[in-house]
Amino acid sequence: MRIELENLEDGKGSFAHTYQPEELNLVDERVRVTQPISVNGQVMKSGSEIQISGRVETRVNVECDRCLKMVELPVSAGFKLQYITGQDYEAGHAAELTADEMALSVFDGEAIDVDEIVREQILLSVPDRALCDENCRGICSMCGTNLNSGSCECKSSEVDPRWAALKNFKNGEA
Ligand SMILES: [Zn+2]
Ligand SMILES: [Zn+2]
Repeated sequence: MRIELENLEDGKGSFAHTYQPEELNLVDERVRVTQPISVNGQVMKSGSEIQISGRVETRVNVECDRCLKMVELPVSAGFKLQYITGQDYEAGHAAELTADEMALSVFDGEAIDVDEIVREQILLSVPDRALCDENCRGICSMCGTNLNSGSCECKSSEVDPRWAALKNFKNGEA
């Protein structure tokens, strides 16, 4: 969805849209959207600047960082962004903006691409590392057993270096 600025009445307007999960390609393969994505917000034009604020809501699946099980996370991301045209940006207009600079984007002066905002907000709200449970025991790196649902012999056959030293000492004594 794009918001055409010429359709704004008195320089402002509101928007709401629902995307089907497969409608937006998130690019990031780690994240899979499982529910329809809803977005709504307000647009305001002041001079050559556009301010857009709103909220994106959905649910996503990501893999547990330790055991690779799918973890479903809610996404509820509020955003507040500022847009200026590329011309204004080059004219040094952006230099006046300090604190809000992080949220400053450049657009073509005609329309704001809401798909792009939604995509970005979903990816920003997903943590780098997700765990199915903070006590997740993960997968054995040697045999691949999921240690949450089973156990394996790999750890116990690994000899603790302190015991290995003791073993050598005993052997030497014999
Ligand atoms: Zn896990
Ligand atoms: Zn193992």
